[in-house]
Order: sequence, then structure tokens, then C-alpha cells
Amino acid sequence: MNESPNCTVCDRELWEDEAGRYACKPCQRRLDDRLAAIAGPCGLYARLCLRMEPAGRAMGESVSGSSSPSIPANLLVLDLTAAGGIIGTLEAWVEDWSGYGLATRGTGGRLQHRIDQAVATLRLNLPRAVERHPALDEFAREVDGIHRTCSALVDGGREPVKAAATCRACGKPFRFGLFDKGGADCPRCDHHHTRAQLLQPEQADASAA
Ligand SMILES: [Zn+2]
Ligand SMILES: [Zn+2]
Repeated sequence: MNESPNCTVCDRELWEDEAGRYACKPCQRRLDDRLAAIAGPCGLYARLCLRMEPAGRAMGESVSGSSSPSIPANLLVLDLTAAGGIIGTLEAWVEDWSGYGLATRGTGGRLQHRIDQAVATLRLNLPRAVERHPALDEFAREVDGIHRTCSALVDGGREPVKAAATCRACGKPFRFGLFDKGGADCPRCDHHHTRAQLLQPEQADASAA
């Protein structure tokens, strides 16, 4: 039971009929909507997988003349849609929740099926989880993150997606916009990095040495 008088997700003071819950009712609704949006044949995960196909075909046809702007987004999509990506995050929560009697482990199968199974059991148990699961704020943050990143990639980057890079000049880490086509300057030493340098940190290190 939440001992605090506030929602652990949005920090709003809980109403009388929400007392003891980890999340207020609007947060629960928002979380349920975001989970629902990820799953299903027209969901964010399925649409994200579809985004991979044109690049896959292009790579099969010819190596040269590929358009570089689509590469970083596709690398990110690949990470997110692989077994360790979105599925890994959701199934880790299923595993965690099942320890509280709040979720049923999936039966495996195709990646899309695993996504749908994980989302279904999490949504089914969400009403009880908001009352009983102490890490609900962390769950909400991760679901928000998945939803935000997927939406950005599926809609072509309306919201900025940031990725991590290490400055070639001063060695400090910084973040850059994945859809910024012109590369990025280090915020500390102003060293300019081309897009290719930002996306290939290992090669950049080797050529700088
Ligand atoms: Zn809330
Ligand atoms: Zn720097």
C-alpha cells in the first residue's frame, strides 16, 4: 500500500477514493492506453516492424547509394524490435509482476505474439497493480519511454529522439538528436561531429587514435 498521500507517477495528491493506490486513476488510464497502443496487428510494435522492411529490401538490392538518413532510425528500430528490446522490457515486468501474483508468464512464440501476451496480462492486472505494486512509478516511466520512442519513430520523428555519443575531442559523453541530419557539436568543447561519426563511435575512436 502506498503510504504517501500522492500519486507516485504524477505526484498529484490522491483523492479520498484513491487513497493507498500507487497511481491515481488518470495515470492508470493513461498507462492502460499506452500499453494498448503498443500491442495488436495495428499497434506501435507492429508498425515499427513494418518500418524495417523498405531498408531490408534496399540492402538486398544494392549496397551503394543507400540513403544514410534512414540508417540510424533503422538501427534503433532493429534494437527495439529484437528479442531484447521492447519485448525484453515488457517480459521483465511480466516476470516481476508474476512474483506478486499480478501477471501470467507468456507461452513464447513469435515476437509479435509475445508482445501481445505481455501487454494483455499487464493490462488485465493493472487495476490491482496500481494498488499493490510498489514499483509502479518505474513501470509507468518505462512504458512511457517505449510509447514515446515508438510513436516518434512510427510518425517520423515528431518528437526528438536522443542517442548517446562520446566526443572525439574531449571524450565527454553527450546526447544528440537522432533525426538531426547535420551532425552535432560537443556541448562542452564545440568539436563538430558528422552524422557518420556520431553513429559509429568505435570506428571514430579508432581513426582518432
Ligand atoms: Zn497520477
Ligand atoms: Zn568535446
